[in-house]
Amino acid sequence: MTITVLLPLGLLAVGVVVGPWLGIIADRAVERLPPKPTHRCTSCRRALGPSTLRPVLGWFDRCTGCGLHKGVRYPMIDLATGMVFAMLGLRFGMGWMLLPYLGLAAVLIVLSAIDVETHLLPNIIVWPAFFASLFLILVISGQRDYAEGIYSALLGAAVFTGFIGAAHVVNEQGMGRGDVKLSMTLGLFLGWLQPDLIDTTRLVLATIIVALVGGGVTGLVYNLAKSRGRAEIPFGPALAAATLAAVLVSGSVLDTVSL
Ligand SMILES: [Zn+2]
Repeated sequence: MTITVLLPLGLLAVGVVVGPWLGIIADRAVERLPPKPTHRCTSCRRALGPSTLRPVLGWFDRCTGCGLHKGVRYPMIDLATGMVFAMLGLRFGMGWMLLPYLGLAAVLIVLSAIDVETHLLPNIIVWPAFFASLFLILVISGQRDYAEGIYSALLGAAVFTGFIGAAHVVNEQGMGRGDVKLSMTLGLFLGWLQPDLIDTTRLVLATIIVALVGGGVTGLVYNLAKSRGRAEIPFGPALAAATLAAVLVSGSVLDTVSL
């Protein structure tokens, strides 16, 4: 088997193993709890044993307090992380650019899990993610045209934040401040793939349209399935999923930095 097959398979395994830890970060960031390597029951909040750290399978354990499973979001995070990591491996191959995009995927999965539950994108994750992304892009861009890499990433951040910021001004309820802050990081990663302003704007616009349509359809289906009441659907997960899809299917990576 070649590296093109082994890399995605390896990343699938890595993602599934990383998943439980992302679940813990999402869980503890919501309530600003100190870091501790334990899952908690989503029903009664009791701390669960280390066996729940087994990827996916840990979900089948039952809480000793209330007898329920620990919450379906945990195995979903494990599976989503494995699948996204594998797809990014296929997209970028073995190279330095793979690393920051794996980091982006991990952060987006954590933020999506938090946003679904609380309708918030906490600063404690959004800001460190932005500065860590900027740092990685600065360092890795040094492997190719330094100025072009940084310029295109910052341009992407400005374009993405411009559109989402304008939407926030027009409709504060639908597009929260957290979405505006998150779009800075998303724009960095989309802009880094496209050094041209027109291509960047096109990619960002396509991403936002996909997020709006995807988020809208999901909200509609969810509310139709609900027997009563109407739930607000957070926009963060739709933005995150659309950005990851744009990264996976956008045009050539241009000069992918190879090892
Ligand atoms: Zn419980």
